[in-house]
Formats: sequence, structure tokens, C-alpha cells
Amino acid sequence: MTALPAARGVAPFLPLVVHAPHAGTHVPALARETLLDSARLRAELNRLTDWYTADLFQLPGAALCATPVSRLAVDLERYTDDALEPRAAVGQGVIYTHDSQGQRLRPEIVPEQRRQWLDHWYRPWHLKLELDVLASLQRHGTCLLVDAHSFPACPLANEDDAGRVRPDICLGTGANTPAWLLDHALDWCARQGLSVAVDFPYAGCLVPAVYAADSRVAAIMVEVNRGLYLEQPDPATAPALGMDCFRVKAALNALLLGMAGQLWAPGGWSSVGEPSGQVAREPGSQGARASDLMELRH
Ligand SMILES: [Zn+2]
Repeated sequence: MTALPAARGVAPFLPLVVHAPHAGTHVPALARETLLDSARLRAELNRLTDWYTADLFQLPGAALCATPVSRLAVDLERYTDDALEPRAAVGQGVIYTHDSQGQRLRPEIVPEQRRQWLDHWYRPWHLKLELDVLASLQRHGTCLLVDAHSFPACPLANEDDAGRVRPDICLGTGANTPAWLLDHALDWCARQGLSVAVDFPYAGCLVPAVYAADSRVAAIMVEVNRGLYLEQPDPATAPALGMDCFRVKAALNALLLGMAGQLWAPGGWSSVGEPSGQVAREPGSQGARASDLMELRH
């Protein structure tokens, strides 16, 4: 399989914004020309791309912010100031100088080039994300922002998990993550039979600075272990969608709907995802019911 089905073209009407910053695979020529060894590009794309996350997390009615540009050009999930960015220590700040194997990827680019890259491939997408959140706030007075990622089943060469086993799901939290939101996601993992860790192997949740700690904006990072939905025996080889990808997508849809449903007024949108005229919510229940969730094991 090469693609997941995606229902596009539905205008956002849910108080839900999905940000998939690492799904892009396009490395623009300007960025490619700076690579010291372009023959290594494919393997590095295989390792570092959050494959298919724009489709896995795509939900009709939710706003989706997903750049086609690869993190090997600019990484949207990084601070632009290397002094603030912890991953700059391994050459993977907003513009990578080293690959995931610790090898030199490109020389330091000159400041003018850096400014151009950020203006072309970084700032427009952060602006879009900010505007997607603003549109939700204007329409609903609230917003759920989901920072959507996937991660390799085993640590890459420049990652140190300190011997811990990687979970099926990693939930990242921050100042915009209320306890109810984390509890809902943890409960979803339990119902799905998925192992989960909070802020491991990756931590935090990207929120536009203007909305940091804004109580109207609830945010959580959801990272899916690629072993759940990809056939990729070696992280350096080209991946293919595994048979479980449809179950993963269905389960993620239920998670997104459930979280957004808790954020919105109880009962205000309970027909979403239900057959017309057959809405069946138990009194006081919110979001997805257990029976809505598909069993997911691997
Ligand atoms: Zn990612």
C-alpha cells in the first residue's frame, strides 16, 4: 500500500487543529544543493520523516497544518534561535547541519541564506498554524491543538533512551495540556491496549507563542510508534504501510473526536461521526464511547 484514504475538502468546523510538522518529504533544490553527500538523502528521509502522519491524523472537519517541505530543509518543531534549541547540540536545530547518524549533512549556511529559508519554508507554516488556531477561537471560543508525530521503533544513532523500552504511544505535554486532556488520551491508550509513556521518548508540545498558557487553547502531542502502522524493518529503508494502518487511523480518529468533544460544550456536537438519527449517548457521557473505539493491538 502506498497511501491512506483521506477525506479532504471538508471545511474546518470542529474546534480542532492538527499540526503534522514532519510529514513532508520534499527537499527543495536550494536546500538539496547544500548537502555534502546527496546519496545519503534518501536513507535520511526514510529515518526522519514522520511517514503518513498527515493522513493518519487527518479528520474531516478539523483544520490540518502539514507542510510538504521535509524537516531536512527546515524543522518546524524547532526554535529558530539555536541558543534556545536543545537539538542544536547534535546539529539538528531548525536547519540541520548533521544527520541522525551524527555525520555532517551540510556546512553552516550563511545568515542571509538562513533568513531566506526561514522566510520561505518556516514562517509561513507557523503563521498558518497560528491562523488555524485563531479561526477556531473566533468560531468556537476554544481550540484543541494536536501536535501529530510518529517515531522510529528503535532509537536513532543520535538519540539516547537510557535503555528504556519505547512505548506504542508517546504523549507530549506542556503548559497548555490540562489534566483532563492527558487523562482522556491515557484512557484511550488503555482501552486500545496500547503501551504509553508521557514525554518519552520525546517531550513537550508545540503551541504558537502567542497562545502559550492561554486557557482557551488546549494542546497535546501525540506520537505513534511507526512499528504500529509501517513495514520498515530497518529505519534506513523505504517504508510501506502495514496492514494495521487502517485500524491505527480509525483509532486516532476516535481519539481526536473524543478529545475535541470533551473540549466543546457537552452534547453540542454529539452527532459527529454517528449515523444520522442514530445518535446514542449515555446521559452525561462526552466524546467517543468505548464501543466507538476499535480494538488495536500489534
Ligand atoms: Zn515528528
